[in-house]
Amino acid sequence: MKNEPVIYRGRPVFFSLFLLAVCLLLTSSQALRRWDFTLYDLFSRVLQRPAAEDIILVAIDEHSLAVEGRWPWSRRLHAELIDRLSRGGAKAVGLDILFAEPSPDSPEDDAFLADAIRRNGRVVLPLVNENAQAGGPLKLTRPLPVLAEAAAGLGHVDVELDEDGLVRHAFLKAGPGSADYSAFSLEMLTLGSLDILENIPGLRNPGSVASSPESWIRDYEILIPFAGPPGHFRRISYADVLAPSFDPAVVNNAYVFVGVTALGLGDGLPTPVSGNSVSMPGVELNATLLDVLRNKLAVLPMTILMQFVVGGVLILLPCFLYPRLRAGSSLGVAAVFLLLSLSLSFLLLRFLHLWYPPIAAMVTIILGYLLWTWRRLKWTVNELAREKHQALVTLHSIGDGVLSLDGSGRIRYMNPMAESLTGWTTGEASGRPLGQVVRLEDERQGRDLTPVIEQCLREVQPSTVQVDALLTNRDGRNLTVHASAGSIHDEQGRNMGVVLGISDLTETRFMAEQLAFYTTHDALTGLPNRTLLKDRLEQAMARAGRNSRRVAVFYVDLDYFKKANDILGHSGADQLLRETASRLQAVEQEGMTVTRLGADEFVVLLEDVDETSGIEQVAREMLAVLQDPFFIEQQKVQLTASIGVSLFPEDGQQVEQLIRHADIAMNQVKESRRNDFQFFSDEMHDWIRERLDLEKQLQQALENDELVLYYQPQIRLSDGRLIGVEALLRWESSERGFVSPARFIPIAEESDLILSIGKWVLEKACRQAKAWEEAGFESMTMAVNISPKQFLQKNYLELIVRILEETGLSARFLELEITENTIIQHLEHSSEFIKGFRALGGTISIDDFGTGYSSLSYLKQFPVDHLKIDRFFVRDIAVAPEDAAITKAVITMAHGMNLSVVAEGVETQAQLSLLQDQDCDKVQGYLLAHPMTAEAMTALLEKGGVCAACSGDQAG
Ligand code: C2E
Ligand code: MG
Ligand code: MG
Repeated sequence: MKNEPVIYRGRPVFFSLFLLAVCLLLTSSQALRRWDFTLYDLFSRVLQRPAAEDIILVAIDEHSLAVEGRWPWSRRLHAELIDRLSRGGAKAVGLDILFAEPSPDSPEDDAFLADAIRRNGRVVLPLVNENAQAGGPLKLTRPLPVLAEAAAGLGHVDVELDEDGLVRHAFLKAGPGSADYSAFSLEMLTLGSLDILENIPGLRNPGSVASSPESWIRDYEILIPFAGPPGHFRRISYADVLAPSFDPAVVNNAYVFVGVTALGLGDGLPTPVSGNSVSMPGVELNATLLDVLRNKLAVLPMTILMQFVVGGVLILLPCFLYPRLRAGSSLGVAAVFLLLSLSLSFLLLRFLHLWYPPIAAMVTIILGYLLWTWRRLKWTVNELAREKHQALVTLHSIGDGVLSLDGSGRIRYMNPMAESLTGWTTGEASGRPLGQVVRLEDERQGRDLTPVIEQCLREVQPSTVQVDALLTNRDGRNLTVHASAGSIHDEQGRNMGVVLGISDLTETRFMAEQLAFYTTHDALTGLPNRTLLKDRLEQAMARAGRNSRRVAVFYVDLDYFKKANDILGHSGADQLLRETASRLQAVEQEGMTVTRLGADEFVVLLEDVDETSGIEQVAREMLAVLQDPFFIEQQKVQLTASIGVSLFPEDGQQVEQLIRHADIAMNQVKESRRNDFQFFSDEMHDWIRERLDLEKQLQQALENDELVLYYQPQIRLSDGRLIGVEALLRWESSERGFVSPARFIPIAEESDLILSIGKWVLEKACRQAKAWEEAGFESMTMAVNISPKQFLQKNYLELIVRILEETGLSARFLELEITENTIIQHLEHSSEFIKGFRALGGTISIDDFGTGYSSLSYLKQFPVDHLKIDRFFVRDIAVAPEDAAITKAVITMAHGMNLSVVAEGVETQAQLSLLQDQDCDKVQGYLLAHPMTAEAMTALLEKGGVCAACSGDQAG
């Protein structure tokens, strides 16, 4: 990619004004005039022209001196010459000899010459201001009056020497006090026609009027364009003109100048065209001037103001262009304008005969260019410094590593990120080859990529290389990176090195992999999730279909997981689930996949099975591994699970169907017994339907008064007295006959039916208790089972108060049985409710103690009155010493906490005796009495309410 050229825009206005001021200074000070004259000389040499035919110089040369003798000559000789010229018919004669003194030979000679001049009538004589300084004191030398009178005109031969001592300027008018005299040549021309006086060329002198009569005034300044070097005009030796052989027709109609050319007489003037050693005779200078004036070639010097205007334009245009151009173009612009200045000057001279001295402008243009370049350079340096700083800041703040290698592949620079990626500091790595600092290899083949990057160093064209690589840094740490290397080339296209960018993708790659992983896996346990399960199951089914094998789907659900969750807290429960996952995985079996669907639900796939016995074995193993206690955060947790199993192909052909059927089977285990497994069977569909029917019928049962309360006595062991009863609900369905509460209570709990049933039970039980109280069976408590939903009702306590009021029963005869699990699941609510109810005077009993996870010390915070040891514990106490030990411990601790203990499900005398030995407070069970109707209970009470089984004689 080629960068847009950065153009320095500077501040052109100040810059231009400064240059204009310089130009003005240079122009007005005329400091550069010498240079301008040199240029002028050069131009005029180029513009030289052929000598005019009709201008003839009659030269007082060495030859004439040799013929006529020593100078000065007799004035009669001059008169003779004039006469000869007169005879030839010369158009005008410029006798460029100063006759200021009377003739030394004889005064008649002067008259003689005057006569010849008068005869000719076209002779012009010179007039000289010997002090050739404008405005200086006057030293005017005129011809003798007699000659002056005879002459056709007097012309001044005043010329100005420039600083370099050369003659270039002429003043067409000059004179003492005012510029009244024409220049010598001009005077000669006016002899032909006076028209020329109306249009005298030249630069006017503003001081030409009102000056002192004592000073020499010049006007109509022109520059002389020389026609050629000395000797350019045709010369005839003075002596030859006087020779008898001279043909006067030669001078016919010509402008004839008579003057000294001989070097020895020293009348020469240095001119630009005369060279170093040869000067131009004054007479020839006058001839040149005449040629100039006659051909209208006089060059007008430009005024200072005009020079400044033209120069200003030439200077301002580049100033305007510089800020718009690239650095390289400025020199071109400056050169063009230098050339333009020269050309303009030349063209003005050539065609308009106007002299524009261009050096001031040219010097200013050069100065401008240098200044601009300098400023641009300064700006560029600043700009580079700024860019460098900016690049450095960028390099320091970007999240990618950047390294630069020099032309030989050695490290020159590393940004902080590169330092942290490689483990090297720039100081340490600088000068080392890339391969020594970092190892970059191909992710898959492990090929070293350093040579690929170094290849960039050899590229002639700018090139880049992109690679995904494994970077091994100084500490041996591996990083997944994307590296891109690009060659750097200088303006000439030479390869200067390589820049290597390294993006650390380790994290990104890891996240992407994690993300991909978690779309198919469970974040908590890392097991495949439902999506992957479906996939695997589908494949397993396809394979099994081909090989005529079976696939088993185990739906594993932990029992009472919610309680575990509440007790262990979130992190503990998570740990429990992770442990469960690994235990399930530990049940090693070929073709087995353990997956987690969520919460405490796991699905295990078992492929390539045939025998049902093998499947059962796996289910049993899973139950077994889960039964071992877990130790989570220093707490011992006992866990069981319910497992439902469905089989492919018999239980379903679709993935969803198989999972659902296993789920149904699991639910049935959960409802009936837990800690067990069951295969799905078609009847289970009926079972589900049946549950729905049951719910409907239960609703009707409540309305149709099919529900009855039975009462089971509770016996105090110390004296064998019946001290209370537990109200137990019975349903004698018109359609189904007797239905166990263990069957319908969970169904009622699932719907809100339990609320109205519970209320009915409480009312009925309280009324019955009041009836027995009134019948004289006092001090007998009525224990009523409360289901979680009832207990959680907001104004449940108010309902109890109302029922107690309505039935008139004292709260101290009412005992509420709340299961251990219910309390634990709703700690805060439980504590509040228990306190409220006990404040009324009632008592609380914890039912089914031992099935949950609570330790006794944990329950201490709840102010309860009784513990009811679950009948599953009581069942084996007579045969299993561990169970007996448990009950013993519970009883002892409960007593320590001021709780009385009720053992339920006492069926044998052995159990009873043991409980008696263990100091259990109360017992309840078939051994003593089955739950019975109110009437049967009344009859029992009437008999005295003493338990025979508890008496000492039966105990043995
Ligand atoms: P539970 O509260 O633990 O009640 C004791 C259960 O043990 C009763 O079963 C009772 O008949 C039975 N039982 C008593 N002695 C023995 C014995 O020696 N051996 C055996 N094997 N069982 C004995 P039931 O009446 O079938 O009730 C089962 C469960 O139904 C109760 O367990 C209780 O949780 C619930 N339930 C019963 N009535 C109600 C009620 O009115 N409301 C609520 N919410 N639940 C009730
Ligand atoms: Mg109970
Ligand atoms: Mg119980």
